[in-house]
Amino acid sequence: MLGLIMDRPMLISSLIDFAAEYHGGTEIVTHNVEGGLHRYGYADAQAEAKRLANALGELGVGFGDTVGTLAWNTRRHFEIYYAVSGIGAICHTINPRLYVEQLAYIVNHASDRVLFVEAGFVPLLDSFAAEIADTVRAIVVLCDEANLPESEHFDLISYDALVAAHDPVFDWPSFDERTASSLCYTSGTTGNPKGVLYSHRGNILHSYASIGPDCMNISARDTVMPVVPMFHANAWGIPYAATMAGAKLALPGPHLDGENVQALITGEGVTMTAAVPTIWLMLLDYLKRSGKNIRPLTNVVIGGSAVPRSMIETFKRDYGATVRHAWGMTEMSPLGTVNTPLAKHENLDDGAWLDLAEKQGRPIFGVDMRIVGEDGGELARDGVAFGDLQVRGYWVANAYHRQDESDAHTGDGWFSTGDVATLDGDGYMRITDRTKDVIKSGGEWISSIDLENIAVDHPKVVEAAAISVAHPHWDERPLLIAVREEGAELEKSELLDWYEGKIARWWKPDDVVFVDELPHTATGKLLKTKLRDDFKDYILPTA
Ligand code: AMP
Repeated sequence: MLGLIMDRPMLISSLIDFAAEYHGGTEIVTHNVEGGLHRYGYADAQAEAKRLANALGELGVGFGDTVGTLAWNTRRHFEIYYAVSGIGAICHTINPRLYVEQLAYIVNHASDRVLFVEAGFVPLLDSFAAEIADTVRAIVVLCDEANLPESEHFDLISYDALVAAHDPVFDWPSFDERTASSLCYTSGTTGNPKGVLYSHRGNILHSYASIGPDCMNISARDTVMPVVPMFHANAWGIPYAATMAGAKLALPGPHLDGENVQALITGEGVTMTAAVPTIWLMLLDYLKRSGKNIRPLTNVVIGGSAVPRSMIETFKRDYGATVRHAWGMTEMSPLGTVNTPLAKHENLDDGAWLDLAEKQGRPIFGVDMRIVGEDGGELARDGVAFGDLQVRGYWVANAYHRQDESDAHTGDGWFSTGDVATLDGDGYMRITDRTKDVIKSGGEWISSIDLENIAVDHPKVVEAAAISVAHPHWDERPLLIAVREEGAELEKSELLDWYEGKIARWWKPDDVVFVDELPHTATGKLLKTKLRDDFKDYILPTA
């Protein structure tokens, strides 16, 4: 027998309708691409999104069509999120930092009918115009008529003019909540990018989970600043979650340096924010140099790569903000775990608290997790055994877009993350590596992430990567490649001594190479394939 509860579809359009009705005057503030602040309320955003929905119809975009964006975190991008998904089309957010070949590949693979692009990306688009000419029908530039740039290959439409020419009255259609809402490609280090096709249902459930106190903790009293880009896993779902909560939004546009981020925090009263560690390194560096503060910010969600212990400590000690270490993936909408304490952790001393806070967190309801050994058997949740981390849940991708096969999906309904992790009895998860980055010394695994974390905790180290180098006896041994703090004097031996007492002796890197900078992927992660390639002939010192 079925329950007698209404079966209303969970649709993204209901988020903006809710916020417009009950939080209509709550602000969405944008640091404009060209400078200056734009501010309006959720009711205005809804009206603009509805105008855009009417405009999309005129551009020939209908239910099931895909629309691409090459855009920063701005109110226009926010309107596109809601208008496109609202009419049942698919909002494909594109990472502008991808290589041109990858950009052309995903625009075609996704069949983007219309592209919404920042004026500054028009030359980039021109550079692969011929490759996408058969796919894309219209290009809309996110600016007013007066600032419309020139294009060598396309007729460009001004976003503001397009939207202003249409009516703000529009009834969002109702459809199956499992309908595709948005699309984001994840670029591995090899092969073509893979598309993750989100659904309305997945995004709504992810938003319900996100706003909870043990997750991102977003309420109507917060001012939320997503610094993580809206082209990276939907800015971790914040444009949906903040709207569900009716929180004020502060959108930084392309202005992600320490000075601009600090000004937006104090100027708009940001209480909650989220981004990858690199952003916070820039902010903390700026705060140290300028002597400024980040009041009233208290809740800093950090993920995307492992958060250095010193970062968690500095935010707390010097600025009174608590870091919530989070882990997720594009394939997971993206949240999987968030690190918040349990009641029993109330009285931990500083050291034990940092040990806990450094972990990637515990699963949020809606995501199941297990770790699996090389034989496929599940491993103990004892905080020691580590293996392939697998997940399943309400917002986890069950396949890649337009791809028949996936190595990552198991026969029994789990998604293999490619991360190597431990789980403890309370569910706290700790990533020790990516499967492909593990260093195998004498048949035993050494965690490259642990080696990197220890290195960046050294006050004179900015960034570090640990990679495996071939060794005649042990098969592989760790080599540390590090970037020194500007002007700092640091010798190899001092950095190697730093490892004493922090890890097992045999984990200590065999050598250190100092470089000026490390290579990164389009989403800011260390590009270890390149490093392994660059250092493949490196001869380690013999002991
Ligand atoms: P993406 O899909 O680009 O967001 O990348 C997801 C991957 O980023 C994960 O599979 C992890 O390898 C890595 N990652 C995300 N969050 C963390 C974290 N808190 N600590 C370590 N690695 C992380």
